[in-house]
Amino acid sequence: MAALHHLRQYHPLCIAVSKLHTSSHASAKQHYKMLVLGGGSGGITMSARMKRLMGAENVAVVEPSEVHYYQPLWTLVGAGAKSVALSSRPTASVIPSGVKWVKSKVQEVNPDKNTVYTDDGSQISYEYLIVALGLQLHYEKIKGLPEGFEHPKIGSNYSFETVEKTWKALQNFKEGNAVFTFPNTPVKCAGAPQKIMYLSDAFLRKTGRRAQAKVIYNTSLPVLFGIKKYADSLWDIVKRRDLQVNLRQNLIEVRADKKEAVFENLDKPGETKVIEYEMLHVTPPMGPTLVIKGSALADEAGWLDVDKETLQHKRYPNVFGIGDCTNLPTAKTAAAVAAQSAVLHRTISKILKNEKPDKKYDGYTSCPLVTSYSTVILAEYDYNAEPLETFPINQAKESRIMYHMKADIMPQLYWHGLLRGLWGGPGPYRKLFHLGMK
Ligand SMILES: Cc1cc2nc3c(=O)[nH]c(=O)nc-3n(C[C@H](O)[C@H](O)[C@H](O)COP(=O)(O)OP(=O)(O)OC[C@H]3O[C@@H](n4cnc5c(N)ncnc54)[C@H](O)[C@@H]3O)c2cc1C
Repeated sequence: MAALHHLRQYHPLCIAVSKLHTSSHASAKQHYKMLVLGGGSGGITMSARMKRLMGAENVAVVEPSEVHYYQPLWTLVGAGAKSVALSSRPTASVIPSGVKWVKSKVQEVNPDKNTVYTDDGSQISYEYLIVALGLQLHYEKIKGLPEGFEHPKIGSNYSFETVEKTWKALQNFKEGNAVFTFPNTPVKCAGAPQKIMYLSDAFLRKTGRRAQAKVIYNTSLPVLFGIKKYADSLWDIVKRRDLQVNLRQNLIEVRADKKEAVFENLDKPGETKVIEYEMLHVTPPMGPTLVIKGSALADEAGWLDVDKETLQHKRYPNVFGIGDCTNLPTAKTAAAVAAQSAVLHRTISKILKNEKPDKKYDGYTSCPLVTSYSTVILAEYDYNAEPLETFPINQAKESRIMYHMKADIMPQLYWHGLLRGLWGGPGPYRKLFHLGMK
C-alpha cells in the first residue's frame, strides 16, 4: 500500500499541471472571508459557487491531495468497463482560477476562535467556513487488511489504489466463490457494494465461466437496498441470475494467503462463518473524519452537525457543511452533493445579506444501480425514503439509456457542471418532465 501511495504522488498529470498552477502553504495568507475545507466533490463545487458570490480573492480551499477523483467511475473501472485514468484529474485543474489552494492537511478546527490549524503548523482564520472533508475509510478495522491487498484475488472499488485489483481478480477468476461485502457502518454510495456483484456476474457469463462460480453477497444490512421500490426490482434480478444474498453478515477478517473471508452473524453475536473465495470484493467500514470527530463541530456520532434543511451548523452560524462529512440523514453520494450545493449557495447568500435562509434541502440523493454492462436502475429518493424520480418513466426497471447516463453523461456533468458550480441537481428538469407536478 505504501508503494501505491508513493506512485500516486508521481501521477504524470499532477507534475504537468502543478507547474502551471500557483498554490501555497498556509503561511502566505492567514485570513479568508470564506474558507473551504476539502477539495473533493463538495469542496470544489462550493469554491466555484463562493467565487461567484464574493470574488475569488476572498475564497481559499484547503486540500492536501494533488489528485482529484471522480469516485463514481470506480464501479465501472473495477469491472473493466472504464480505465482508471479517466477517474482522476490534477487538483490544480479543478480549483477555480483565482481561488487560493492551501495545499495542506487540516489537523484541527477551533470554531470558537474561527481558526483552522494545518499539519504544517500554520493557522488560518475565517469569517465563514464550509466543511467538505468527506468520510474516512477503515480497511484496517478488518483483520488482515490492508496488507491482504498485496495478494491476488482481492480488490476494492472504494480506493484508487485497490480498484484495479478488483478487475484483475475478476479477469483471473477460474472456479469457486465470488464474494462481495457490505460493512456494518454508514457508507458512501450504498449501491456500489452490490453494483460490482452484478457486473462480475455479467462478466463471468460473457466469458463462459458463470457455471463454475457461486456469486455471494454478504451484507450487514437487514435489507438488500433501503428503498422498497428499488429493492423489489433488485430481489427479482438476484433470483433470476442465481445470486446468493446473505443478510446481517459482516466481514471481520481476511486471510488472504488462504483465500478465506471470515464473517460474523450480526443477529447471533459470537457466531462466525469462514468462506473460501476465488474472488473477494471488500467494501470497507467507514466513519467520520477524525478532524471533525474530535471537534466541537461534531454530533454524538462524530459527523458534522448541520441543519438538515439549510446545511448551516446547528451551534456555529458561520459554519456550513456539505457531503459525506455531514450528519444529513440521507444517502451519501455525489448526486446528493449536487442538490446540497444549490441549497447551501442560497443559504449563504441570504446570510451574507442578513436575511433568513429560505431554500430547503429535501434529502435528494441518487444511486445508479448498475446491473450489467448495458443496464442501470436509476434510484432517486429523498429524506422520507420516497422515490423522487427525474424522468417520467418507471426508473425501477433496468434501462439502457440510464446506463449511458451513468457511464458517459454523468462524468461530463461532474467535470464540467458540478465542479464549476453550475449543476445543482436535476430538480428543475424533474419539474419540467412532470409538468410542474413534482
Ligand atoms: C466506488 C464508489 C462509487 C460511487 N458511486 C457513486 C454514484 O454512482 N453516484 C454518486 O452520486 N456518488 C457515488 N459515489 C459517492 C461520491 O463519490 C461521494 O459521495 C462524493 O464524492 C462525496 O463528496 P465529498 O466532497 O463529501 O467527499 P470527497 O469527494 O471524498 O472529498 C473529500 C475531500 O476532503 C479531503 N480531505 C480529507 N481529509 C482532509 C484534511 N484533513 N484536510 C484537508 N482535506 C482533507 C480529501 O482529500 C478529499 O479531496 C461513489 C463512491 C465510491 C467510492
